[in-house]
Amino acid sequence: MADKDKLFCSFCGKTSKEVPSLIAGPRVFICGDCVKTCNAILAGLPSDGFAGWSELDDDALLANLPRSQQAHEGSRAVLQQQIDELRKREVSWQKIGDALSISRQAAWERFG
Ligand SMILES: [Zn+2]
Repeated sequence: MADKDKLFCSFCGKTSKEVPSLIAGPRVFICGDCVKTCNAILAGLPSDGFAGWSELDDDALLANLPRSQQAHEGSRAVLQQQIDELRKREVSWQKIGDALSISRQAAWERFG
C-alpha cells in the first residue's frame, strides 16, 4: 500500500484524510475513533459509534463493498502466509484444520 491517501480504516471505512490517526496492522487499519469505540466496548460503556449496516442507505452500503472486499482479501493473504509458514515447518493439515475448527481435508482444499 504505497499510496497513503488511499489508506482507510478497516472498521468504519473513513480514509486517512478523514481521521486524525490511522493505526496499521498486518494489511488492516484502525482509526482513532474506532479505537475509542473499542475502548468503550471493552470498558462495558455504551458506544455512540457505528450504528450498524442497516443504518446505511443503498449507495453507502455499495460504496463500502470494495473496501470490505479489500480488507477480506488482506486478511485472507495474512492467513495464507501463516499457513504457508506452518507447512514449511511441516505442521500437519490436521493441526491446521483443528486450529481453524475445520476438517483436515477442508484446510488442505482451502489453503493447500
Ligand atoms: Zn474507523
